[in-house]
Amino acid sequence: MIVVMKQGATKEQVEHMIRRVEELGLKSHVIHGTERTVIAAIGDKRDEDRQSLESGPGVDEVVAILAPYKVASLEVKRERTIVHCGSLSVGNCHLGVIAGPCSVESEEQTLATARAVKAAGATALRGGAFKPRTSPYSFQGLKMDGLKILAAARAETGLPIVTEVIAAGDVPLVAAYADVLQIGARNMQNYRLLEEAGAAGKPVLLKRGPSATLDELLLAAEYILNAGNQNVMLCERGIRTFETHTRYTLPVASVPYLHDRTHLPVVVDPSHGTGHTSLVPRTAAAAVAAGADGLMLEVHPDPETALSDGYQSLTFRQFEETMALIHRVAEAVGKQV
Ligand code: PEP
Ligand code: MN
Repeated sequence: MIVVMKQGATKEQVEHMIRRVEELGLKSHVIHGTERTVIAAIGDKRDEDRQSLESGPGVDEVVAILAPYKVASLEVKRERTIVHCGSLSVGNCHLGVIAGPCSVESEEQTLATARAVKAAGATALRGGAFKPRTSPYSFQGLKMDGLKILAAARAETGLPIVTEVIAAGDVPLVAAYADVLQIGARNMQNYRLLEEAGAAGKPVLLKRGPSATLDELLLAAEYILNAGNQNVMLCERGIRTFETHTRYTLPVASVPYLHDRTHLPVVVDPSHGTGHTSLVPRTAAAAVAAGADGLMLEVHPDPETALSDGYQSLTFRQFEETMALIHRVAEAVGKQV
Protein backbone atom coordinates (compact mmCIF):
# COMPACT_ATOMS: atom_id res chain seq x y z
CA MET A 1 0.00 0.00 0.00
CA ILE A 2 1.03 3.60 -0.39
CA VAL A 3 0.01 6.19 2.17
CA VAL A 4 -0.23 9.43 0.23
CA MET A 5 0.11 12.41 2.54
CA LYS A 6 -1.77 15.63 1.89
CA GLN A 7 0.15 18.54 0.40
CA GLY A 8 1.52 20.47 3.35
CA ALA A 9 1.30 17.53 5.80
CA THR A 10 3.58 18.27 8.74
CA LYS A 11 6.77 16.41 9.68
CA GLU A 12 5.04 15.21 12.85
CA GLN A 13 2.11 13.82 10.84
CA VAL A 14 4.51 11.96 8.53
CA GLU A 15 6.43 10.56 11.51
CA HIS A 16 3.18 9.53 13.16
CA MET A 17 2.10 7.64 10.05
CA ILE A 18 5.49 5.90 9.74
CA ARG A 19 5.02 4.66 13.32
CA ARG A 20 1.47 3.51 12.54
CA VAL A 21 2.66 1.58 9.47
CA GLU A 22 5.38 -0.13 11.51
CA GLU A 23 2.98 -0.93 14.36
CA LEU A 24 0.90 -2.85 11.82
CA GLY A 25 3.96 -5.03 11.14
CA LEU A 26 4.61 -3.41 7.76
CA LYS A 27 7.95 -2.07 6.52
CA SER A 28 7.87 1.66 5.80
CA HIS A 29 9.72 3.38 3.01
CA VAL A 30 9.34 7.15 2.83
CA ILE A 31 9.70 9.16 -0.34
CA HIS A 32 9.77 12.94 -0.07
CA GLY A 33 8.57 14.11 -3.47
CA THR A 34 8.65 17.68 -4.70
CA GLU A 35 4.88 17.99 -4.22
CA ARG A 36 4.03 15.56 -1.48
CA THR A 37 5.34 12.81 0.73
CA VAL A 38 4.30 9.20 0.31
CA ILE A 39 4.95 6.30 2.65
CA ALA A 40 5.13 2.89 1.04
CA ALA A 41 3.84 0.30 3.51
CA ILE A 42 5.29 -3.02 2.45
CA GLY A 43 4.13 -6.42 3.64
CA ASP A 44 0.93 -8.47 3.66
CA LYS A 45 -1.92 -6.04 3.25
CA ARG A 46 -5.20 -6.37 5.09
CA ASP A 47 -8.23 -4.30 4.34
CA GLU A 48 -8.71 -3.19 7.95
CA ASP A 49 -5.09 -1.89 7.98
CA ARG A 50 -5.82 0.19 4.91
CA GLN A 51 -8.92 1.71 6.48
CA SER A 52 -7.12 2.44 9.73
CA LEU A 53 -4.22 4.18 7.95
CA GLU A 54 -6.60 6.20 5.81
CA SER A 55 -8.06 7.88 8.88
CA GLY A 56 -4.60 9.04 10.08
CA PRO A 57 -3.72 12.75 10.42
CA GLY A 58 -2.53 14.46 7.23
CA VAL A 59 -3.36 11.43 5.06
CA ASP A 60 -4.91 12.10 1.67
CA GLU A 61 -5.47 8.51 0.53
CA VAL A 62 -4.16 4.97 0.83
CA VAL A 63 -3.82 3.07 -2.42
CA ALA A 64 -2.72 -0.45 -3.28
CA ILE A 65 0.56 -0.89 -5.19
CA LEU A 66 -0.43 -3.07 -8.10
CA ALA A 67 3.05 -3.97 -9.37
CA PRO A 68 4.83 -6.95 -7.76
CA TYR A 69 7.84 -4.69 -7.15
CA LYS A 70 7.05 -1.84 -4.79
CA VAL A 71 9.83 0.63 -4.02
CA ALA A 72 11.07 0.46 -7.62
CA SER A 73 7.65 1.29 -9.03
CA LEU A 74 6.50 4.59 -10.48
CA GLU A 75 3.39 4.25 -8.32
CA VAL A 76 5.54 4.85 -5.23
CA LYS A 77 7.88 7.48 -6.68
CA ARG A 78 6.92 9.62 -9.64
CA GLU A 79 10.12 11.65 -9.90
CA ARG A 80 12.84 9.98 -11.93
CA THR A 81 15.82 8.81 -9.94
CA ILE A 82 19.11 10.35 -11.04
CA VAL A 83 22.27 8.56 -9.91
CA HIS A 84 25.17 10.97 -9.44
CA CYS A 85 28.67 9.68 -8.85
CA GLY A 86 31.46 12.16 -9.63
CA SER A 87 31.39 12.90 -13.35
CA LEU A 88 28.81 10.15 -13.91
CA SER A 89 25.15 11.26 -13.94
CA VAL A 90 22.54 8.77 -15.06
CA GLY A 91 18.83 9.48 -15.28
CA ASN A 92 16.22 11.96 -16.47
CA CYS A 93 18.03 14.33 -18.86
CA HIS A 94 21.49 12.99 -17.99
CA LEU A 95 23.12 10.38 -20.21
CA GLY A 96 26.05 8.60 -18.56
CA VAL A 97 28.70 6.93 -20.70
CA ILE A 98 30.56 4.13 -18.93
CA ALA A 99 33.41 2.91 -21.12
CA GLY A 100 36.49 0.78 -20.75
CA PRO A 101 37.89 -2.68 -21.23
CA CYS A 102 35.97 -5.86 -20.50
CA SER A 103 38.82 -6.94 -18.20
CA VAL A 104 41.60 -5.06 -16.50
CA GLU A 105 44.62 -6.78 -18.06
CA SER A 106 47.54 -4.52 -17.13
CA GLU A 107 48.22 -1.05 -15.82
CA GLU A 108 49.34 0.07 -19.26
CA GLN A 109 46.19 -1.23 -21.01
CA THR A 110 43.81 0.21 -18.41
CA LEU A 111 45.47 3.61 -18.11
CA ALA A 112 45.72 4.02 -21.87
CA THR A 113 42.02 3.18 -22.18
CA ALA A 114 41.03 5.47 -19.32
CA ARG A 115 42.87 8.41 -20.93
CA ALA A 116 41.36 7.71 -24.36
CA VAL A 117 37.76 7.31 -23.20
CA LYS A 118 38.01 10.38 -21.01
CA ALA A 119 39.37 12.44 -23.91
CA ALA A 120 36.47 11.24 -26.07
CA GLY A 121 33.87 12.22 -23.45
CA ALA A 122 33.14 9.12 -21.34
CA THR A 123 31.87 9.97 -17.86
CA ALA A 124 32.97 6.76 -16.07
CA LEU A 125 35.53 3.99 -16.53
CA ARG A 126 34.50 0.34 -16.56
CA GLY A 127 36.79 -2.64 -16.18
CA GLY A 128 36.45 -6.08 -14.65
CA ALA A 129 38.90 -7.16 -11.97
CA PHE A 130 36.80 -10.17 -10.91
CA LYS A 131 35.51 -11.79 -14.09
CA PRO A 132 32.55 -14.18 -14.21
CA ARG A 133 33.59 -16.47 -17.07
CA THR A 134 31.56 -19.22 -18.66
CA SER A 135 34.61 -21.47 -18.73
CA PRO A 136 36.77 -22.01 -15.66
CA TYR A 137 39.75 -22.15 -18.06
CA SER A 138 39.22 -18.59 -19.31
CA PHE A 139 41.00 -15.54 -17.81
CA GLN A 140 39.39 -14.90 -14.42
CA GLY A 141 40.62 -11.33 -13.91
CA LEU A 142 43.50 -9.78 -11.97
CA LYS A 143 41.31 -9.54 -8.84
CA MET A 144 42.99 -7.41 -6.14
CA ASP A 145 45.73 -6.21 -8.52
CA GLY A 146 43.00 -5.23 -10.99
CA LEU A 147 41.26 -3.12 -8.35
CA LYS A 148 44.52 -1.30 -7.63
CA ILE A 149 45.02 -0.58 -11.33
CA LEU A 150 41.48 0.83 -11.54
CA ALA A 151 42.19 3.05 -8.54
CA ALA A 152 45.34 4.33 -10.29
CA ALA A 153 43.29 5.09 -13.42
CA ARG A 154 40.79 7.04 -11.32
CA ALA A 155 43.59 8.94 -9.58
CA GLU A 156 44.99 10.04 -12.93
CA THR A 157 41.80 10.75 -14.91
CA GLY A 158 39.24 11.51 -12.20
CA LEU A 159 36.79 9.08 -13.83
CA PRO A 160 34.66 7.12 -11.35
CA ILE A 161 35.18 3.37 -11.48
CA VAL A 162 32.46 0.85 -12.35
CA THR A 163 33.55 -2.69 -11.59
CA GLU A 164 31.87 -6.01 -11.00
CA VAL A 165 31.54 -7.84 -7.71
CA ILE A 166 30.82 -11.53 -8.21
CA ALA A 167 30.45 -12.84 -4.65
CA ALA A 168 28.78 -11.52 -1.50
CA GLY A 169 31.98 -12.08 0.48
CA ASP A 170 33.95 -9.82 -1.90
CA VAL A 171 31.65 -6.80 -1.43
CA PRO A 172 33.72 -5.05 1.28
CA LEU A 173 36.92 -5.39 -0.77
CA VAL A 174 35.41 -4.31 -4.10
CA ALA A 175 33.43 -1.48 -2.48
CA ALA A 176 36.65 -0.12 -0.96
CA TYR A 177 37.94 0.56 -4.51
CA ALA A 178 34.85 0.91 -6.72
CA ASP A 179 32.63 3.97 -7.10
CA VAL A 180 29.82 1.87 -8.61
CA LEU A 181 29.31 -1.84 -7.91
CA GLN A 182 28.31 -3.80 -10.98
CA ILE A 183 26.18 -6.91 -10.49
CA GLY A 184 26.63 -9.07 -13.57
CA ALA A 185 23.96 -10.77 -15.61
CA ARG A 186 24.83 -14.18 -14.19
CA ASN A 187 24.30 -12.88 -10.67
CA MET A 188 21.07 -10.92 -11.11
CA GLN A 189 19.20 -13.37 -8.92
CA ASN A 190 21.96 -13.94 -6.35
CA TYR A 191 19.87 -12.42 -3.58
CA ARG A 192 22.54 -12.46 -0.83
CA LEU A 193 24.87 -10.60 -3.19
CA LEU A 194 22.14 -8.06 -3.99
CA GLU A 195 21.56 -7.42 -0.28
CA GLU A 196 25.26 -7.08 0.50
CA ALA A 197 25.85 -4.79 -2.48
CA GLY A 198 22.80 -2.75 -1.49
CA ALA A 199 24.14 -2.28 2.02
CA ALA A 200 27.63 -1.20 0.87
CA GLY A 201 26.60 2.43 0.39
CA LYS A 202 27.79 2.68 -3.23
CA PRO A 203 25.59 3.05 -6.33
CA VAL A 204 24.79 -0.29 -7.98
CA LEU A 205 24.53 -1.12 -11.68
CA LEU A 206 22.31 -4.17 -11.96
CA LYS A 207 22.51 -6.12 -15.20
CA ARG A 208 19.56 -8.09 -16.51
CA GLY A 209 20.00 -11.87 -16.47
CA PRO A 210 20.01 -13.30 -20.02
CA SER A 211 16.84 -15.26 -19.28
CA ALA A 212 15.21 -12.98 -16.72
CA THR A 213 11.95 -11.16 -17.37
CA LEU A 214 11.74 -7.43 -16.78
CA ASP A 215 9.57 -8.07 -13.70
CA GLU A 216 12.33 -10.31 -12.34
CA LEU A 217 14.88 -7.55 -13.03
CA LEU A 218 12.74 -5.06 -11.11
CA LEU A 219 12.25 -7.49 -8.23
CA ALA A 220 16.02 -7.98 -8.08
CA ALA A 221 16.42 -4.18 -7.92
CA GLU A 222 13.92 -4.21 -5.07
CA TYR A 223 16.39 -6.22 -2.94
CA ILE A 224 18.98 -3.46 -3.35
CA LEU A 225 16.44 -0.69 -2.69
CA ASN A 226 15.20 -2.52 0.40
CA ALA A 227 18.75 -2.54 1.74
CA GLY A 228 18.33 1.24 1.94
CA ASN A 229 20.15 2.06 -1.30
CA GLN A 230 18.31 4.40 -3.68
CA ASN A 231 21.13 4.59 -6.21
CA VAL A 232 20.27 1.71 -8.49
CA MET A 233 20.77 1.67 -12.26
CA LEU A 234 19.14 -1.08 -14.32
CA CYS A 235 21.11 -2.38 -17.28
CA GLU A 236 19.67 -4.07 -20.36
CA ARG A 237 22.48 -6.17 -21.80
CA GLY A 238 20.58 -8.56 -24.05
CA ILE A 239 18.77 -11.83 -23.57
CA ARG A 240 19.14 -15.33 -24.92
CA THR A 241 16.91 -16.17 -27.89
CA PHE A 242 17.02 -18.60 -30.84
CA GLU A 243 19.01 -16.02 -32.83
CA THR A 244 22.66 -16.93 -33.29
CA HIS A 245 23.93 -14.07 -35.46
CA THR A 246 24.28 -11.82 -32.47
CA ARG A 247 25.75 -12.97 -29.13
CA TYR A 248 22.49 -12.04 -27.36
CA THR A 249 19.34 -10.30 -28.59
CA LEU A 250 19.21 -6.71 -27.40
CA PRO A 251 15.62 -5.54 -26.80
CA VAL A 252 15.62 -1.78 -27.16
CA ALA A 253 11.95 -1.80 -26.14
CA SER A 254 13.07 -2.58 -22.57
CA VAL A 255 14.00 1.09 -22.21
CA PRO A 256 10.54 2.67 -22.72
CA TYR A 257 8.88 -0.34 -21.04
CA LEU A 258 10.94 0.15 -17.88
CA HIS A 259 10.52 3.94 -18.00
CA ASP A 260 6.75 3.43 -17.95
CA ARG A 261 6.99 1.35 -14.77
CA THR A 262 9.96 2.46 -12.73
CA HIS A 263 11.68 5.68 -11.70
CA LEU A 264 15.06 3.93 -11.85
CA PRO A 265 17.42 4.91 -14.69
CA VAL A 266 18.06 2.44 -17.51
CA VAL A 267 21.51 1.82 -18.97
CA VAL A 268 22.02 -0.18 -22.17
CA ASP A 269 25.07 -2.32 -22.94
CA PRO A 270 25.28 -2.81 -26.72
CA SER A 271 28.69 -4.52 -26.43
CA HIS A 272 27.40 -7.65 -24.70
CA GLY A 273 23.96 -7.13 -26.28
CA THR A 274 25.27 -7.64 -29.81
CA GLY A 275 28.67 -9.29 -29.39
CA HIS A 276 30.01 -7.65 -32.56
CA THR A 277 32.04 -4.44 -32.68
CA SER A 278 30.47 -3.43 -35.99
CA LEU A 279 26.97 -3.46 -34.48
CA VAL A 280 27.81 -1.48 -31.35
CA PRO A 281 27.78 2.17 -32.57
CA ARG A 282 24.40 2.02 -34.29
CA THR A 283 22.82 -0.02 -31.50
CA ALA A 284 24.14 2.49 -28.96
CA ALA A 285 22.52 5.26 -30.98
CA ALA A 286 19.23 3.31 -31.05
CA ALA A 287 19.34 2.89 -27.28
CA VAL A 288 19.81 6.62 -26.78
CA ALA A 289 16.98 7.33 -29.23
CA ALA A 290 14.76 5.01 -27.15
CA GLY A 291 15.51 7.12 -24.08
CA ALA A 292 18.35 5.22 -22.39
CA ASP A 293 19.85 7.07 -19.42
CA GLY A 294 23.27 5.55 -19.89
CA LEU A 295 25.46 3.37 -22.08
CA MET A 296 28.04 0.80 -21.14
CA LEU A 297 30.62 0.28 -23.89
CA GLU A 298 33.65 -1.99 -24.05
CA VAL A 299 36.78 -0.27 -25.39
CA HIS A 300 40.25 -1.77 -25.78
CA PRO A 301 43.59 -0.40 -27.09
CA ASP A 302 44.01 -3.50 -29.26
CA PRO A 303 40.83 -5.63 -29.38
CA GLU A 304 42.62 -8.40 -31.27
CA THR A 305 44.80 -9.20 -28.28
CA ALA A 306 42.14 -8.64 -25.57
CA LEU A 307 41.95 -11.36 -22.91
CA SER A 308 38.14 -11.20 -22.99
CA ASP A 309 35.43 -9.90 -25.33
CA GLY A 310 37.80 -8.40 -27.94
CA TYR A 311 35.29 -9.25 -30.71
CA GLN A 312 32.79 -6.78 -29.28
CA SER A 313 35.22 -4.07 -28.13
CA LEU A 314 35.65 -0.71 -29.81
CA THR A 315 39.08 0.71 -30.64
CA PHE A 316 39.82 4.22 -29.35
CA ARG A 317 39.03 5.62 -32.78
CA GLN A 318 35.74 3.72 -33.01
CA PHE A 319 34.80 4.92 -29.55
CA GLU A 320 35.42 8.54 -30.59
CA GLU A 321 33.19 8.09 -33.63
CA THR A 322 30.52 6.41 -31.51
CA MET A 323 30.60 9.36 -29.09
CA ALA A 324 30.08 11.79 -31.97
CA LEU A 325 27.04 9.80 -33.11
CA ILE A 326 25.66 9.51 -29.57
CA HIS A 327 25.99 13.26 -29.03
CA ARG A 328 23.84 13.97 -32.08
CA VAL A 329 21.11 11.52 -31.04
CA ALA A 330 21.23 12.63 -27.40
CA GLU A 331 20.64 16.22 -28.42
CA ALA A 332 17.65 15.18 -30.52
CA VAL A 333 15.99 13.46 -27.56
CA GLY A 334 16.85 16.09 -24.96
CA LYS A 335 19.66 14.26 -23.15
CA GLN A 336 23.02 15.59 -22.13
CA VAL A 337 26.22 13.56 -21.82
C1 PEP B 1 30.75 -7.37 -18.29
O1 PEP B 1 30.17 -6.27 -18.20
O2 PEP B 1 31.95 -7.49 -18.57
C2 PEP B 1 29.96 -8.61 -18.14
C3 PEP B 1 30.52 -9.75 -17.73
O3 PEP B 1 28.68 -8.44 -18.50
P1 PEP B 1 27.39 -9.39 -18.29
O4 PEP B 1 27.30 -9.63 -16.81
O5 PEP B 1 26.28 -8.55 -18.85
O6 PEP B 1 27.64 -10.63 -19.08
MN1 MN C 1 32.74 -8.25 -21.31
